Amino acid sequence: MNKVDLVVVSDHLYTMTGEGVGYIEDGAMAIDRGRIVAVGRRDEISKEYEGEKALQLKKKAVFPGLIDAHMHTGFGIMRGLAQDTGNWMMYGLQPFDNVLTENERNAGSKLGIIEAVKAGTTTLGDYETNMEFVAGFIHRLGARGNLTHMIREAEKRVYEPGELYLFNRDLGERGLLRNLELYDKWHNKDNGRIKVLFGPQGPDFVGRELLERIYDLAEERDTLVHMHTQQGDRETYQVQKRYGKRPIEWLKEEGFLGERLVAVHLTDARDDEAKVVARSGAGMILCPGSIGIIDGIVPPSVAFQEAGGNVALGSDQAPGNNCHNIINEMKLATLFNKIKYTDPEVMPAWRALRMATIEGARAIGLGDVVGSLEAGKRADFIAIDLEKPSMSPVYSYPMRNMVPNLVYSARGDEVCLSAVEGEIIYRDGKFMNVDEDEIIGEVGVYPDSIGKRASGEFFSINGTNAVFMKEGKL
Ligand SMILES: [Zn+2]
Repeated sequence: MNKVDLVVVSDHLYTMTGEGVGYIEDGAMAIDRGRIVAVGRRDEISKEYEGEKALQLKKKAVFPGLIDAHMHTGFGIMRGLAQDTGNWMMYGLQPFDNVLTENERNAGSKLGIIEAVKAGTTTLGDYETNMEFVAGFIHRLGARGNLTHMIREAEKRVYEPGELYLFNRDLGERGLLRNLELYDKWHNKDNGRIKVLFGPQGPDFVGRELLERIYDLAEERDTLVHMHTQQGDRETYQVQKRYGKRPIEWLKEEGFLGERLVAVHLTDARDDEAKVVARSGAGMILCPGSIGIIDGIVPPSVAFQEAGGNVALGSDQAPGNNCHNIINEMKLATLFNKIKYTDPEVMPAWRALRMATIEGARAIGLGDVVGSLEAGKRADFIAIDLEKPSMSPVYSYPMRNMVPNLVYSARGDEVCLSAVEGEIIYRDGKFMNVDEDEIIGEVGVYPDSIGKRASGEFFSINGTNAVFMKEGKL
């Protein structure tokens, strides 16, 4: 008999191995020192492994921890402030983003991160400028971080439509330096639980020379470049005006496409352009809720997958998408593509679950680490309570409905346990290492003051939300 730290037993185990969901009925998983040692049927595992601890998950389904590959959690403090407007970034977001303090962003990050973990996310792909704080918080929480410091060379202010962004060399250099500091301090910390990527905000926000240096440094340090890519007509316009080419065409010519790139959004990419990115070996992150609300567009993730690329899901940010809930993103990825193609078969529930787990892990460079439950991988997993109304009734033989129920009707509160590296970080509504009530209390302190500071610009721009407020509609 082999002694291990933990044996997890569950009525239903979804390993996400093979081409589908890798279902095992009455399954078990042996975990030692944070790694999965063996997965199989309970009778097989119990013959070979004895756990110092045992976790019995009756009437639960166990899945790999979900991956939210692209988030700006610091924006959480601006939840619900910027939707329903054209030119979202300048007219919706900027009046608020321009006045935020570091403390306010940090409070937003804590909020966004606990919201995501409560809905089953164990790997957080946060991407902002307050990453030192976020790394510390994720370290304390016990979750997995795939963190990127956002590097921006374009001066931060409201630009008129059609105005070319003004590059500020110092701003870009400071961003790069902070990304390097973050990498040196946090990359591979906590037994590899935290990874640091490099984060040019986009080919419109960072110039060619700085982008080249960022790629060189990422290669030197063997990490990835996490970048908004052809993320909207505003980016296409900027790159065309500056270089005379569409973003993907320009990135290809300059040698910026390839396995080192994780391309976020591709909102304004045509199918043929998405395929060029996929064939280069880059990963894609699809943020269906965010891009749906901000731009009214369904990005070409299906074309990307058809060309053999891996696509991860992301919740993006709260003033656009309004939530950090990857279960919601799974549903929207399926729903929006069915509508886009007028084809109910184009994106099945199991495929969306693969995007939130194994395919997502591959897209962001963690394919050997997480995303499936198999020997050698880190023991990141969640349990879904099958006795919640949204998961009931359960069909388990000869047909099964648990994956469609998770993707189409679950909302997040079905997640009753989350573990990272074999350690439980959340169980039955309670975090083990942080205090949810304290975090909710803290974020409640800021809105009045943020509103006061942002109101001048918000009402002078007079975007749709400002008009709705004045008219008493909102
Ligand atoms: Zn983003």
